[in-house]
Amino acid sequence: MNPFSLLDKKILVTGASSGIGKAIAIICSQMGASLIITGRNLTRLSETYKVLEGSNHYQFKADLTKLYDLHSLVESLPKLDGIVSNAGISVPLVLQSIEAEDVNEVFQINAFASIHLTRMVLQKQKLNKGASLVYISSVNGNNCTFIGSSLYSASKSTLTGFMKGVALELAPRGIRANCINPGMIETDLLKAGSYGEEEFKKDRLKYPLKRYGKPEEVAYATVYLLSDATKWITGSSLLIDGGYTLL
Ligand code: NDP
Repeated sequence: MNPFSLLDKKILVTGASSGIGKAIAIICSQMGASLIITGRNLTRLSETYKVLEGSNHYQFKADLTKLYDLHSLVESLPKLDGIVSNAGISVPLVLQSIEAEDVNEVFQINAFASIHLTRMVLQKQKLNKGASLVYISSVNGNNCTFIGSSLYSASKSTLTGFMKGVALELAPRGIRANCINPGMIETDLLKAGSYGEEEFKKDRLKYPLKRYGKPEEVAYATVYLLSDATKWITGSSLLIDGGYTLL
């Protein structure tokens, strides 16, 4: 008996075409899960699909900021044992340069997509009893922030607030909801800012463990929260930041 196994669990992973979501999908498949993976870029999504372990997986191209795509995705889903709501973007902007469209762009994927996805799977009764919902939030907005991150931080703390409501409302049905709050993780998301390699080198040294995290390190924590090992954990935020917020 392995309490961390995901054998026979059906799990949806959003943003599985890249970075953290890709690592989560691959490692969940290695732990025995059947995956439904989604992203916008079908070429990159298929690359993830090809390296999933086992069979019984499928991929679905969707822009999660579009309600039509969300509806089609949810209609196509089997009953799920887990959702990893991971798709997100970073748009670093100092306050005076934020435009209305930036606010919409960031909130639509980082917060509203998860809210719509959650309400739709509930309305369509796509969650099994005991299902686990994992929202990939961030240290930004929950534990700290940095200059240029007010919009991103606001979207991520919105997501965390939503997770708490989900955890409370769904607890009577044995459905759990938790967030993961990563510090900087080595993915394409880091290319969104204006940092060059020298600045990244210096920034990595600010972490007590002297490096940024790896996508698989977030994936292992996600497996933990999806598994039956955490049947009594709900409404929590798991910090994965190499000690960054200790300072
Ligand atoms: P990547 O840029 O590598 O991946 C982002 C993923 O989100 C891609 O698969 C992308 O799909 C998907 N995505 C973006 N917009 C949409 C959309 N409108 N509809 C559907 N899918 C979309 O970033 P990471 O892997 O680093 O980030 C994953 C999550 O982790 C994000 O929520 C991010 O905020 C969070 N995070 C990341 C940290 C980091 O330092 N990297 C730190 C803390 C949190 P496609 O490419 O197909 O468009």
